[in-house]
Amino acid sequence: MLGRTEKRFGIKPDWIAADTAYGSAENLGWLVKKQGIIPFIPVIDKAERSDGTWSRSDFEWDEEKDQYICPEGHSLRRFRRNYSDPNRVKKIGGTYKYRALKAHCQACPSKQRCCPNMDARAVTREPDEDARDFARSARKSRAYKISRNKRKKVEMLFAHLKRILNLTRLRLRGPNGAKDEFLLAAIAQNLRKLAKRRPRTPQTEAIA
Ligand code: SF4
Repeated sequence: MLGRTEKRFGIKPDWIAADTAYGSAENLGWLVKKQGIIPFIPVIDKAERSDGTWSRSDFEWDEEKDQYICPEGHSLRRFRRNYSDPNRVKKIGGTYKYRALKAHCQACPSKQRCCPNMDARAVTREPDEDARDFARSARKSRAYKISRNKRKKVEMLFAHLKRILNLTRLRLRGPNGAKDEFLLAAIAQNLRKLAKRRPRTPQTEAIA
């Protein structure tokens, strides 16, 4: 859709608002890193825990040092050794595991909230996690709230077409038939809106 819109109308959005169905890591990675578009999209995150223990989002990512920092301030790393061969630490786009030191976790006052059944905490980082982090931070902005309201406005119109104007299925065939039906439905929707905006006078109230 983005490609078609750009080709046909020469416009490309700075941001996109969509629902969770579009929040996969792959989609967010493509939007952020390949298209340079800000995604106001909820992130699909299966790493979130529901048992009250800390989730990955409670750990802070340190890009420069390639490590997570836990809520108690300790580092979780892929390696503890300094390898002289850079190929040993090179990332090739897979899922990586970051581990805390067992000694830190065993002595930690927050162990029950972090990893009650493990010797030490580990956190995984998926490919495109940087794009997901970006989407998460975008969600905290004021612009996200504005985009969400705009998205709901559009979605409400479609819901209204379906539920109130009963456009659950198209009756005319082919793209031209669909275009005509949607056009007529949109006209009906706009007329309904206009009718509601007319000033309230005793005469109009009597007609209503
Ligand atoms: S249990 Fe380990 S990883 Fe978790 S907060 Fe404590 S030191 Fe950090």
